[in-house]
Amino acid sequence: MYFKGYLKCLRKMIKGVVKKIESKDYYVLISSEEVIRCSLPGKIKNKYKKEKGKQYRIDIVAVGDFVYFNLNDDGTGVIVKIEERKNQLSRKALRIKGGSFRGARLEQVIAANIDNIFIVSSISSPQFNNRVVDRILVAAESSKIKCNIIINKIDLDVENFSEYWTELYAGIGYNVFCTSVPENKGFNKLIDYLKNNVNLFWGASGVGKSSILNLLFPHLSLKTAEVSKYSSKGQHTTVTSLLEMIDKKTFVIDTPGIREIDPFGIQGIDLAHYFVEFIPYLESCRFNTCTHFHEPGCAVIKAVEENKISMERFESYVNLLNTIEDGMNF
Ligand code: GDP
Ligand code: ZN
Repeated sequence: MYFKGYLKCLRKMIKGVVKKIESKDYYVLISSEEVIRCSLPGKIKNKYKKEKGKQYRIDIVAVGDFVYFNLNDDGTGVIVKIEERKNQLSRKALRIKGGSFRGARLEQVIAANIDNIFIVSSISSPQFNNRVVDRILVAAESSKIKCNIIINKIDLDVENFSEYWTELYAGIGYNVFCTSVPENKGFNKLIDYLKNNVNLFWGASGVGKSSILNLLFPHLSLKTAEVSKYSSKGQHTTVTSLLEMIDKKTFVIDTPGIREIDPFGIQGIDLAHYFVEFIPYLESCRFNTCTHFHEPGCAVIKAVEENKISMERFESYVNLLNTIEDGMNF
């Protein structure tokens, strides 16, 4: 009997990639046109919780995960297996307003199996915010995900500030794309980078992320303004990430529900490693416990003084160092 059941199960097992998660519903993409609504049984959740032990994450399944599911007769699915992730972009979960939750902030996985992150920013309205860019760069570097920067609205850049930031970030090795939606500028180069990759787009509100995605992929008509929805049970749920298939090998993950990213699980002592241009200096500090902030004989501070490291990046570093809740990250 059991064996028969097992065979039945095997026959129907289907592989797909998670497109979006709403409350307890997992929408799994199995072809360019087919999405199956799946559930994640408690049994599977517990199995993964046990396996991960202390490393247990709140998001056992995230957008971008490859999952296997069994198809029910009614066309819905039941997830039975989750593939190991290549990588994941996480943030500290937001504190619940008015909640009594204390202690470490949990990890929220924004998406998994990402090839490229594109940080969308604008040079003006809103003004370019290098601190925000640096924060995402740290999150990406700590997850070993390739990161790129889009500086949008260059049509508003009368004083040519974008050149300064392009030089700074390209100088430390990041791809920088300067774009303008109304002038349709800068997108040819960008589109080449997207091909055959899973590309996550993140941007603060108003920078033009939806405009860019709609210009690049008009057929998708991404409903990026739709940030939240009510589930059938009337609970308020936030739609965080959304995966779209462009072609068989090219995917875009939009992040309309993610308005800020606080890097997760970073200790103060490691932070400097995620500022890539600091790395060559880290071995030369007088103290091996140097936090590159105020210590005498710090090679990073010396490099800042000698203009080998930009003051803006150093300020971002100090700013982040101060906000890291040491000992509360795990
Ligand atoms: P999002 O919040 O990042 O998704 O931003 P939107 O795509 O909704 O764009 C915010 C506003 O900026 C809209 O009024 C857009 O028309 C405008 N916008 C987007 N891209 C550009 C651009 O390259 N140049 C200019 N001048 N305005 C833009
Ligand atoms: Zn130092």
